[in-house]
Amino acid sequence: MTRYANYIDGEWLDGPTFSRNVNPSDVDDVVGEYSQADVQQTARAIQAARKAFASWSLSTPQQRFDVLDRAGTAILARKEELGRLLAREEGKTLPEAIGEAGRAGQIFKFFAGEALRLGGEIVQSVRPGVTVEVTREPLGVIGMITPWNFPIAIPAWKIAPALAYGNCVVIKPADLVPGSAWELVKIIAEAGAPAGVINLVMGRGSVIGEALVNSPDVDAISFTGSVSTGRSIAAKCVASGKKVQLEMGGKNPMVVLDDADLNVAVEACVNGAFFSTGQRCTASSRLIVTEGIHDRFVEAVKARLKTLKIGDALAPDTQIGPVVDERQLAQDERYIAIAREEGGTVFGGERVAASTNGFFLAPALITDTTPTMRINREEVFGPVASVIKVKDYEAALATANDTDFGLSAGICTTSLKYATHFKRHAQVGMVMVNTATAGVDYHVPFGGRKGSSYGAREQGSYAREFYTTVKTAYANA
Ligand code: NAD
Repeated sequence: MTRYANYIDGEWLDGPTFSRNVNPSDVDDVVGEYSQADVQQTARAIQAARKAFASWSLSTPQQRFDVLDRAGTAILARKEELGRLLAREEGKTLPEAIGEAGRAGQIFKFFAGEALRLGGEIVQSVRPGVTVEVTREPLGVIGMITPWNFPIAIPAWKIAPALAYGNCVVIKPADLVPGSAWELVKIIAEAGAPAGVINLVMGRGSVIGEALVNSPDVDAISFTGSVSTGRSIAAKCVASGKKVQLEMGGKNPMVVLDDADLNVAVEACVNGAFFSTGQRCTASSRLIVTEGIHDRFVEAVKARLKTLKIGDALAPDTQIGPVVDERQLAQDERYIAIAREEGGTVFGGERVAASTNGFFLAPALITDTTPTMRINREEVFGPVASVIKVKDYEAALATANDTDFGLSAGICTTSLKYATHFKRHAQVGMVMVNTATAGVDYHVPFGGRKGSSYGAREQGSYAREFYTTVKTAYANA
């Protein structure tokens, strides 16, 4: 069994214990044993990052471009192998996993360019003889805490901008999927990041995550995960004066209007709700459908779901991989049972036997639901979507916005009037017309409103809002 160490100050160091990384498609397949860091190792990683910051923060944009560009090239060259590892540890289908690995490579290429593009402003002063410059500087040491559902893309979209703008990083990946982050950190080290600039500490959130959040030597925390963990991290960061950014859950609506192209609507909804086993923060878990198209839409979605092949993420014909683990599978089943008790009608949602011993669940479509049911208010985070029948566009928009979350929202319509109105009035960070609520570009901002996000946006050039601090300099000539 291969063992994988933490990466601290340019060295691979075993932690006191190891944790098994198990394939959710086949629990008999162990990907490897990954070191579990302790609080002392985490403190060492933070100190290494502090020390490295002195020179990395003053490195030239060309030096930072070179490291990120080489890392991007290596990720893209190895995307098939990295995708295979990702599919094995997380359960995305192989094409989805290779796509995610490729995305990580593109993100590094984009932020290599951003290192060169970071500019400032020269502004006329209101006082004679005085000039004003507005520039951006790196923050310092960034602690990163990431979830299990995008094991390489989320670490990439946090690490790449942090390094591009001159910060140093200590990252703690999700305990369920350390393998992809481990490979990513190795690639960045081999691309020439100096010792201490990037550090990896694997282990439990309640130990390693807390150590990062509580350390006075960490300047900022970038977190993606659940609302409850995010909120408690934010409270601690505010109390200690750390900059913090949270990306959390969703209960994303997809509106389907009577005038929608039925095929477009079915594909957008099936993709958005069920691909990647529904384990996306942007998944369309509420399908809000006007009454004129409702019955035809529901029948067409059911027919499409019957064609989907569920099974081993690595098998070439699989379209829906496993749920990530036993605990998440139990949570999905619990919500399906709750929806049934609340009066919903459940299609699918049963366990599926496959050729391997994994956590396979048939996609569940729940009809006859109302906006107040728990199934329409709480995030399930699995292949489960509900349908809410509404009278017209106005009711659909009101229902879409009737949620504590605000990450992504979509509408399927052929009406320019409704599409335009929805883009303006959906209370979310990302809005989609005739395309799935999940699936975004990497060069534009990502994030939401309300309970879904807190702090500056991630990705694209907007990432600089989090990873830099602004300085205003006055000079009297
Ligand atoms: P989680 O909150 O359980 O864990 C996220 C990370 O936080 C993990 O690395 C975990 O170890 C760590 N953690 C746990 N307790 C901690 C503590 N007390 N202090 C510090 N760190 C701690 O979430 P998860 O189950 O890994 O991921 C699923 C959630 O992530 C879903 O709610 C999903 O919507 C959300 N998510 C959001 C986005 C987004 O961008 N909005 C993207 C992907 C996933």
